[in-house]
Amino acid sequence: MIDTHCHINTDKFDEDRDEVIKRAFDSGVEKIIIPAIEPNDFDGIIELVNKYEQVYCGIGIHPHNVANVQDSDLETVKEYCKKDKVIAIGEIGIDYFYDFAPKEKQLEVFDKQIKIALENNLPIIVHNREADDDILQVIENNQNGNLKGVLHCFSSDINVLKKTLDLGFNVSFTGNITFKKVDMDDILTYIPLDRFMIETDSPYMAPVPKRGKRNEPSYVRFVAEKIAEVKKMSFMEIVNQTNMNAKKLFNLSLVLLSLFFINNVQAQDDVYYEDEEEYYTEDNYLDGYDKLFGVGFMIGTTTIVESRYIKEGTQTISYEGFLGYGGEFIYTPFQSLQLRLGYVYSKNTKIQDDALAEGIPASDPNFPLPNIHQMYEITANYIPNPKNKINFFVTGGANLFLNDINGQKNQKFGISFGIGVTGNIWESTWGLLSATGEFRVNTELGRELYKDVFIGKDDIRDAEISNLISMPRFTIQFYPKLR
Ligand SMILES: [Zn+2]
Ligand SMILES: [Zn+2]
Repeated sequence: MIDTHCHINTDKFDEDRDEVIKRAFDSGVEKIIIPAIEPNDFDGIIELVNKYEQVYCGIGIHPHNVANVQDSDLETVKEYCKKDKVIAIGEIGIDYFYDFAPKEKQLEVFDKQIKIALENNLPIIVHNREADDDILQVIENNQNGNLKGVLHCFSSDINVLKKTLDLGFNVSFTGNITFKKVDMDDILTYIPLDRFMIETDSPYMAPVPKRGKRNEPSYVRFVAEKIAEVKKMSFMEIVNQTNMNAKKLFNLSLVLLSLFFINNVQAQDDVYYEDEEEYYTEDNYLDGYDKLFGVGFMIGTTTIVESRYIKEGTQTISYEGFLGYGGEFIYTPFQSLQLRLGYVYSKNTKIQDDALAEGIPASDPNFPLPNIHQMYEITANYIPNPKNKINFFVTGGANLFLNDINGQKNQKFGISFGIGVTGNIWESTWGLLSATGEFRVNTELGRELYKDVFIGKDDIRDAEISNLISMPRFTIQFYPKLR
């Protein structure tokens, strides 16, 4: 949210100005604009906006204060409007309700300040009270295509709104739209999304439910909520849209961009010329390229599913929960891609347990040998969120099985696929440790004929077997620091 109009420089905030500003930022206000109302304000406002990066100001003389304005006061406006963080001429305008200054004087000073705005290429913040026709007339007289601005605290009717928009001006809404006696629903419904902003006009005009209290920038949300309700849009849509409108009218993104640029140039100077070592630590160190080469050690629990193709049909047997372990080399060509070359060893003694359970003594010549499965794996991890601290990935690849089943060796190709999560757990000047948990399935392509396979008690015969290994794995990886 951007509170595009508030007077928190005034003495109503002398007691707690810093807390009010903090409360605003804590409640989601992104920027605050303070228009001046007389030259006596200017120094205090400039001091205030220089204290807070996200607080900006307008420079101008309010119609309440123009009765005794001299040319020298207008010179002061010209001088102050060139300062940093001044993003508008305001608050200026006409007020026939209070009528603190003669009509002619009000018209004259309004007109002269518009000309200052045009000379300095600044938008104007306009105060209008019971002066619709004259306000629109003076704006129209000065509208050469370059004049931009806002009628703040818009409370006029829809015809005035239409003329205002035709003149290229925006409006802003404040707490009065939430008052029961004020019905602005037709205005809020009509106003195009890209032509309005929100404000508080603090310390005045506190919106419902804070009505009657001193207003403050954090209450600007009640204005946005009311507009959202009438326009049947979400609160965030109104916030995003009014932020954009304010940034565009007051050129706030450019101010921000130039500040960012200046700060960055300075920051880079610091890094490169004053503290070169600093550059290679912290965040820079944690990006993907510091994980260029790595080595990992893995343990997992192996489940082997053997599909045995025998005369009676396919017999599927699984041997669950024995240890597998191994290692890998890792290469990271891109932050979102890792290539892994791994080796896994598992020894299946469950088949011997089964034989014992069927009453075959270990001394029996048919007692099966343990099955040994080794795999060489080439896999690629795809990491969709490489910048995060915890990285999820999918993995897939090819592998070579080296099986030793009942003393009979063979080789078989296979494929693998899986999912996992990895994250850095510790770093030092010499390297980075990360931990990876994943679940991977490796399956052989095709089957192999084995002789004298233990099928069951008194049932030893030849069978074609195809193996599938499914394995939850835990890997610790070390990436040495290479620069
Ligand atoms: Zn005003
Ligand atoms: Zn005001």
